[in-house]
Amino acid sequence: MGLIETFTFKGKNVGPHILLTGRVHGNEPAGEYALKRLKGRLETGDITLKCGQVTIMPCCNPDAAKENKRFIDMNLNRIMSADHIKTHQNANEANLAAEIISRIDECDMSVDFHTFTEHMPPVVICIDDQNETCRALAKSCGIKRIECDSPFLSAPGTQMLLHYARHHNKPAILIESGQHEDQDAVETAWHALLNILITQGVIDGVPHCEDTHEFLIMRSALYRREGEELAFDLMGQDRINHGDPLFKIADGTLIRADIGGLLFMRNANTPIGEEYAYLCDVLDDWP
Ligand SMILES: [Zn+2]
Repeated sequence: MGLIETFTFKGKNVGPHILLTGRVHGNEPAGEYALKRLKGRLETGDITLKCGQVTIMPCCNPDAAKENKRFIDMNLNRIMSADHIKTHQNANEANLAAEIISRIDECDMSVDFHTFTEHMPPVVICIDDQNETCRALAKSCGIKRIECDSPFLSAPGTQMLLHYARHHNKPAILIESGQHEDQDAVETAWHALLNILITQGVIDGVPHCEDTHEFLIMRSALYRREGEELAFDLMGQDRINHGDPLFKIADGTLIRADIGGLLFMRNANTPIGEEYAYLCDVLDDWP
């Protein structure tokens, strides 16, 4: 038996095997709620799986979830590889990561549900952005903003579920459905889930897709550093322009932006050494 509660539903006919994961970060309950709703509806027969298989892991970090914390020892979504698991084998999250990657090995595609610290429009992250199947999966969830691959998505020496999936040729997306505590984030995750299952042909229905998308690419990060103070209203604006003041150092010197962009994943309370936000380019097509 595994550490993560897992539910499997099979359709009568042959079809794709879709892995659905929620609450990889223990303080992000929206995905768990949406996935448990799906599980309930499949059990009662309100929703019928026509074909294929759906594997649901509603709460991937149960100990962190109990405390509503992001993680216990390690960020679970940064150690998704056999090597990282070995390196961090004593961490609470190591065995969880091992279980999740073994489920990825068994599936055809996967969708990982997350939420943001800040209130901002939902985003689907698609790092395998040159792969047509993965592009189609990202577009099918009905979310306007698509975040494409960028080295800023994962610090050196870390690996997300999406990276593991890409290395193993499994189309995979990550949905940031809204703010952690916002009830709308549950509904956004739920509708994305239905759209994906309908588009994959495993349940009946009409998908509600966006006609146009915005494609975001992270170009740089604003790090919190000792001795530097923010020189702009981080949570009060969603863009930085070239030349805008960013930080003030102790002697009063201003550090200005050398590139402009959309502020993404803002967190005013980020720890020293981590990101206040990322700066993104916004494109109207795939990169
Ligand atoms: Zn998350």
